[in-house]
Amino acid sequence: MHKVVILGTGPAGLTAAIYLARANMNPLVIEGDQPGGQLTLTTEVENYPGFIEGIMGPELMDNMRKQAERFGAEFKSGWVTEVDLSERPFKLTVSGLGEVVTESLILSTGASAKLLQIPGEKENIGSGVSTCATCDGFFYRGKKVIIVGGGDSAMEEANFLTKFASEVVIVHRREELRASKIMQDRARQNPKITWSLNRSPVEVMSSGMKVSGLKVKNNESGEEEIIETDGIFVAIGHTPNTAFLNNQIDTDKVGYIQVTPGTTETNIAGVYACGDVQDNKYRQAITAAGTGCMAALDAERYLEGQAIHDWSQSL
Ligand code: NAP
Repeated sequence: MHKVVILGTGPAGLTAAIYLARANMNPLVIEGDQPGGQLTLTTEVENYPGFIEGIMGPELMDNMRKQAERFGAEFKSGWVTEVDLSERPFKLTVSGLGEVVTESLILSTGASAKLLQIPGEKENIGSGVSTCATCDGFFYRGKKVIIVGGGDSAMEEANFLTKFASEVVIVHRREELRASKIMQDRARQNPKITWSLNRSPVEVMSSGMKVSGLKVKNNESGEEEIIETDGIFVAIGHTPNTAFLNNQIDTDKVGYIQVTPGTTETNIAGVYACGDVQDNKYRQAITAAGTGCMAALDAERYLEGQAIHDWSQSL
């Protein structure tokens, strides 16, 4: 039986692993189909403190992993197909590993940015297509970019991108925006933002290794046109990776895990959540790492409490 199992290897899970390994808790870290999480989809990370010249996303994640391994964290690949949190110890069924039993569990499975699922999109992620304006906006200084989406994220990211880009075109599939009025107003008042409404993205155009445009369909006329651009930011929402929990953990209506404010505690004692799986507001590597540290400390205190409880029961 494991003392603690960590699900997910983004900055939250890996930071939890570093802290727990250093505390001699021998964490088992299970990594799914995207080791390193969303940061492996980006190029240079310039806002993670401590790296004066920035660091490549995959390298940052690799360093965190090696740091956790140095203190004895164990890593295994697998896909959690079932969890039983109804009693302690908790039981997980993991493809390739079978049943994994643990006294405590840290959920750091992250959230996945929704993609448009159109031709040219996936192959240009990291080289012209991005799902994170905060991460990649800086690379579009003086350039024209497109942001796809009509929600608060799209409005916020469009405004943010105008700090760098010469023009930001918001492409949205309807005439009405989903975003709150205040966010819409801010975007509408920004002279660098132009609008391409009632247009559905059809294909990402590229030449060589460079994105050159977005083909969109006019939803009124059915006509297609190409909007030229240097970069495309997709801001159509995120999906927290919580489906495998099968409603055993309290989430909001979208699926983000609900934690007791100021902690990483879920509704089940001994189960903690950190990183983007419980955060639809900040969604930064540094905030994920911060909550990963909190989850490790919360789990450590829980395990210490359990040990004292077991010891007093045996007297
Ligand atoms: P969202 O509110 O779900 O909006 C997603 C947008 O993407 C919608 O306009 C939607 O169009 C569009 N979309 C979805 N799938 C699409 C597709 N396949 N093709 C083209 N367009 C597509 O997501 P969000 O903007 O990320 O916001 C998520 C939550 O975080 C919201 O509750 C939001 O209020 C909150 N948030 C708050 C702030 C803030 O207060 N500062 C900032 C960011 C986010 P339709 O409208 O046609 O469905």
